[in-house]
Amino acid sequence: MKYAKFLILISGVFCSLVLSGQSVNFNEFFKDSTLRFDFFHTGNASEEIFAPDRMLNDGPWPGSKIHLLDELKLGPYFFEIEDAATGRIIYSRGFASIFGEWQTTPEAENWGTFQESLRFPWPKDPVVLHISKRQPDNSFRRIWQTSINPTARNVNPAPLPSMYEWWEVFCNGKPENKVDIVVLGDGYAQSQKEKFKADVERLVGELFKVEPFKTRRSDFNVRAVWTPCAMEGINKPHPGVFRRSALSLTYGAFDSERYVLGFDNRTLRDVAASVPYDFTFILVNERTYGGGGIYNLYATVAADNKFSDYIFVHEFGHHFAALADEYYTSAVSYEAPDIEIEPWELNITALKDPAHLKWKHLVEEGTPIPTPWDKEEFDKFSYEIQKQRKAIRERGEPEEVMEALFEFERTHEREAIAKMKYTGKVGAFEGAGYQPYGLYRAETDCIMFTRNKQAFCRVCQDAISKVIDQYCR
Ligand SMILES: [Zn+2]
Repeated sequence: MKYAKFLILISGVFCSLVLSGQSVNFNEFFKDSTLRFDFFHTGNASEEIFAPDRMLNDGPWPGSKIHLLDELKLGPYFFEIEDAATGRIIYSRGFASIFGEWQTTPEAENWGTFQESLRFPWPKDPVVLHISKRQPDNSFRRIWQTSINPTARNVNPAPLPSMYEWWEVFCNGKPENKVDIVVLGDGYAQSQKEKFKADVERLVGELFKVEPFKTRRSDFNVRAVWTPCAMEGINKPHPGVFRRSALSLTYGAFDSERYVLGFDNRTLRDVAASVPYDFTFILVNERTYGGGGIYNLYATVAADNKFSDYIFVHEFGHHFAALADEYYTSAVSYEAPDIEIEPWELNITALKDPAHLKWKHLVEEGTPIPTPWDKEEFDKFSYEIQKQRKAIRERGEPEEVMEALFEFERTHEREAIAKMKYTGKVGAFEGAGYQPYGLYRAETDCIMFTRNKQAFCRVCQDAISKVIDQYCR
């Protein structure tokens, strides 16, 4: 009996090894190029449908040829590529989408549609694409599927010859062994190429000053693509500044004045595909505070704000590792998450089971869970700043007034946090993910929490490292 159990155990371990990401042989199933599946993601607050648009060759495959299956399973959506002949899953990735965020806003009372793309290695044989959505209990449920025959007439194998000038910011090796970041620019006039180059150098430099990017710089390649515009700046509907720019980025997404997104997915993808890329950063030639980051889609930042370095790194955290915001005193444009269940994001917890805290391995003995901090005082100050921030925008005051307010806030918060007893320790500090109560973060401070010039907390660093591993080994 014991022997039989042992055999079952051994065969179970064997199966999980066979089914893990290590076991899919890239060359058996894929050619060395990227299939881009463009589709329309349409719906309203309660319904969603998918409709195929185009299937294209998006250039050489830039991702890992070893980590083909996504074992992190981050994000609100997940897609899988199934080999049609054998039923075997041969590629998968988690992702977030603009549609998914939009669906939680009041705008979704009416129908809307968004262009999206999924990219995967070019299959040699017919495959089935499955899209799953995260359910209220955090499991994934398949909600749509479509068959793809890579040799059918509606799948275009011709690569797109790039019309854009691009350059290497730094390069450490072959795309398949590195995390490849493409930096795009919007709102730069034809005469501002040198400014774009300088902005890229400066902001990419800021990212690689921060751990774990600093230590793991050699795991990355960064390239930039130049897309000049007829005039300077991008669209800013809230203050009534309207523009048409090369990549069509705009402030005011989902009626949040500081939320910068681009809805022209086709153009963004065509431009990005000028180079091999896994992740996309878009700099906007603006001073007005703003940016955005969507997991596995792109991140955006206003390049000329006093806080651009912070925004760049913070938004990259969303885009790269699906990190949750750890702050909760800012007004945001979508509804709060349900805190009855444990969030899937790696850097926040509902702490339903303190004995099994998901970052327990980083907690030193003797640190109480939950961990006390001077929350009341901190909140009082932050809410007052939020009021002033709103009033500054309503009065239409110049950006330096807002920057001065944020600088005052930063200095005060930095000093207050430095004095707290458990600063520097990993614990479970209440207040995270837009929730003042019921959700917890790992340290008193983190780039996902305040604008202080500090590091990612150790839990965020851990999450980022796991994603790096998925692309470069
Ligand atoms: Zn963090």
